[in-house]
Parts: sequence; C-alpha cells; structure tokens
Amino acid sequence: MAGVSPTRTGLLAQPDYLASALQLDSAWTQSLAEREATARTWRSHHRFGHDAVCPQCLMSSVHLRSVWEHCYAVACHHHGRQLVDQCPACGDYLSHSRERIELCQCGHDLRFVQTPSATPAQLWLASLLSTAGAHSGGIEPRIAGAQMSDVTQLVRVLCQQFDATVPGPRQRAAAPSSIQGAVSFLRPLDALLSDWPYSFETHVAERIAAGSPQARTLNALLGRWYQQLKTVTTSGPLQVFLKVVIEVAARDFNGIVDHLVAAEVGLDSYLPVAEAAKQLGIGRDSLVQHLKEGKANYRTRRLGARGLCYEMPKDEVGRLKSERERWISIDAEPPRVLRRLFSLRG
Ligand SMILES: [Zn+2]
Ligand SMILES: [Zn+2]
Repeated sequence: MAGVSPTRTGLLAQPDYLASALQLDSAWTQSLAEREATARTWRSHHRFGHDAVCPQCLMSSVHLRSVWEHCYAVACHHHGRQLVDQCPACGDYLSHSRERIELCQCGHDLRFVQTPSATPAQLWLASLLSTAGAHSGGIEPRIAGAQMSDVTQLVRVLCQQFDATVPGPRQRAAAPSSIQGAVSFLRPLDALLSDWPYSFETHVAERIAAGSPQARTLNALLGRWYQQLKTVTTSGPLQVFLKVVIEVAARDFNGIVDHLVAAEVGLDSYLPVAEAAKQLGIGRDSLVQHLKEGKANYRTRRLGARGLCYEMPKDEVGRLKSERERWISIDAEPPRVLRRLFSLRG
C-alpha cells in the first residue's frame, strides 16, 4: 500500500514516507523504525520461523511486541509468565502467516492459553531485553544501562559453558528458536543468579577447584570461560560478574590473579613486593628480608618454576610508609637541633 520495498526492513526504514503515504502518526512510525533498528542488532539471536506471544499482553492489546522476537525472550516481564509459541490445541508453532495475531492458524484463541510462571532469571533477562539493557526490573544482579549485545554474549557463555568439567559447549545451539529450546538453554541462569551473589560465587569456586593444579594464572586455570567472560564484563554494568570471579580467585586460588583486571574492578588490595618496595623507596630485597623477619603482613603466591612471589596488602604498605616517613623526619631533626645548639652557644 505504501508502494515502497516489500521487505519489512525496507518498509520500516522509511518512517516519514510511511507516515505520509499511509497517513499514520509520524512519531509512531519513527518509534517503529527505532525498534526495528534495535532488533537488527540482535542478528543471529532473532527468533526465526514462527511467533512467540504473551497471552495476557494480547488480551490487553492485539499486537506483536518486538522483544518477543529475541530468541532469549522466553518470558513477559509485565505478567511474570512464559511466552507461548506452540498452540496447545493443534500442537503447531504459531505461523507468521496466520490470519489473526490472537488466533492460531487452527482458530484457537491464544489470549486464553495458560502458560507456566517465569523464573526470576527469565524475568531478569526479559526486563533487560524489553528495555534494551536499561534495567533488570529490580531483579538481582541489578543491571542498569548495559549493552544488549554484551548481555547476550554473557548469557551465552554462562549457559553454553555451564559445566566446567565438559570441555566443549554444553549445547551446540547458542540461539535456540523455540521457547522450549530456549527455556532449557537458559536453565543454568536460574542456578547462577539465584540468591545473588552466593550461587555464582559457589559456581566460580567449583570452577577454580576443577581447574588444573598446574595452572599458575587465572587465564590458564579458568580457560575459555574466563577469557570470554572478561571480554564483556571488564567495564560497564556487567562488571559485577567479573568482580565475583576476582574476589573468589583472590580467596581460593594460590596462583597469580590478574592484577590489571583486579585493579579494573577495584579489588586490587594486594601489591607485588617490587611495587611495594618502589612506593616505600627501598630495595626489593631488603623489603623481602623485612617480610621474612615477620615485621609486616604479606602473602605468597606460586610463580611458575621460579618459586614464590611476595605480595603485601595495600594498607600494610601505607602503614609502613607513614612509619618510615616519621623516621625520616626524626633523622632530619639533628642538624636543626645542632644548629640551635650552636646558635645558643653563639
Ligand atoms: Zn505479557
Ligand atoms: Zn492451533
């Protein structure tokens, strides 16, 4: 009718023309174009082949919500229930070409379909998806202002590589097309996000325990899971995930925890002894000697075949520093004292 490209993208990419040709509200066609642009960033995470709908949303207004097309959207965050993509009457998937949005191609009214309650993790993801990453609907971990592509990547890593003892991905398909497939793909998320952050901490601790005892670095210990997780959680609101990993590693892993990453997430409470010596203005060897004599707190970590690496808590370095400054100022006293003595004599 509008006489433009017959494809959906072609049509929606011309909101002004669409509004004038079909006498529609231009603000509305504009928002439609924006939603289409968002959906296009989902790329391989677009649900192809059939529709998924929330019966209660259809009850309030018969139109398709764009977020239902994301293959990780398995729930409606308004109604707290799972979406439906298979007709309970005929068993078929909901065809794109059915005549009416609210009716299955067999005629069954989708507005009255009963769907299971959604889990908190499903709602966490549904809130992020429907707000394009703006917020997680008050569900922990509270995320605000995330890039949706980062959230999708994080969810993919967490779910696909959930089992640390299995070297390959748990499930080949990272983009399940049916609701049932997506519910099962996303199941690990329920376990990982529950009772945040305790369950995730336990999961990280298990991964550390399952890692190779030969590993000296966190990269080697946690492998691909950690490397892929890092790419989307080093900065931004998803950093809460990386923070848990670094915290648990600092507690449970006796190897080298990534100092740069730890500093990035604000958890770098220990300094390598060489750095501490530099800050104190003394030689590394004399500081190690000082530590060995038990004059300050420190910890050791394994460092390759070279033996031990000494690390000092930052506040301990601060304490030594102020103590040292006091001594230096006392050392600086005598000349002044002498000068005064001389002047008195004079
Ligand atoms: Zn709904
Ligand atoms: Zn049907």
